[in-house]
Amino acid sequence: MKRDRILGIHHVTAISRDPQENLNFYTGILGLRLVKISVNQDDPTAYHFFYADEQGTPGTDITFFIYPNASKGVTGAGQVKEVSLNIPSESIDYWLQRLQRYGVRFRGPRRTDDGLAIDLEDPDGLNLRLIGRSDIENIAKPWRKGPVPREHAIRGLFGVLISVDSCRHSGWFLEEVLGFRKIYEGPSRHRYVADDGGPSKIIDVECTDTSPGSIGYGSVHHVAWRVKDPETQIMYREKLEKLGFYVTPVIDRKWFRSIYFREPGYVLYEIATDGPGFQIDEPPEELGTKLVLPEWLEDRREAIERSLPKINIPNPENWR
Ligand code: ZN
Repeated sequence: MKRDRILGIHHVTAISRDPQENLNFYTGILGLRLVKISVNQDDPTAYHFFYADEQGTPGTDITFFIYPNASKGVTGAGQVKEVSLNIPSESIDYWLQRLQRYGVRFRGPRRTDDGLAIDLEDPDGLNLRLIGRSDIENIAKPWRKGPVPREHAIRGLFGVLISVDSCRHSGWFLEEVLGFRKIYEGPSRHRYVADDGGPSKIIDVECTDTSPGSIGYGSVHHVAWRVKDPETQIMYREKLEKLGFYVTPVIDRKWFRSIYFREPGYVLYEIATDGPGFQIDEPPEELGTKLVLPEWLEDRREAIERSLPKINIPNPENWR
């Protein structure tokens, strides 16, 4: 691992329209730990939920903006088409049974080059894939008190699949600007890896001639890439600017610092720092137990709380 590189996926953020369904699915059924309940810092009328492993490790995090009035996202060019998650390869049967038990529709298991894969959709229609892997021990620390036994728990993100109208341009960007390596080139799909490759460092780029998609519920809003520290982030920011890409200033998200920009295929990327992390404002055992706001929104807490839909955080005991 070299410090001055992109180290893999930091998190993926998608859109959901029903906070309770989203909570039940990701923490109840999938057994991820809700590590932060907050609001969209750019629009505090919307919840922002963060699900991850026990400690909120970068690379294990999938987050949602909740917009009850959103329209359905449309898949097409310029979109993330699928998000895949790691499960232990011996846990395929466990997951087939678990999904069946909770009435989640799925396809598979199917043999793929990455391992046995189960395809499913979340309640908003977001495409997810569970991939059985044997090389994921160090990626995530499963949630001890979660509803899924530790040996079967999801171990963070495997990768993302983006759909763009030009594999050449989006691939150039990954290689030349972000420093990824191309490890596979098929007729309509290329694979790139960050850092030394492997689960949580993978992006597949699919060339499509479909029309542009649009963001809505069931679609991914952005993919965030990890860097070790603010210096590396600044380096990428300067590089992007020099090449003429529009890039936001560094934004302090409290749990990490972020910059945002669009790659040539219009997919929104973020580069986020590993630190300070989700434990900066809540002790490890209390992560995700109450609404947390950044300081600059604290004086509006009452109004924000009033405007947000009521939720019940699922009790893991009820989802065993
Ligand atoms: Zn983000």
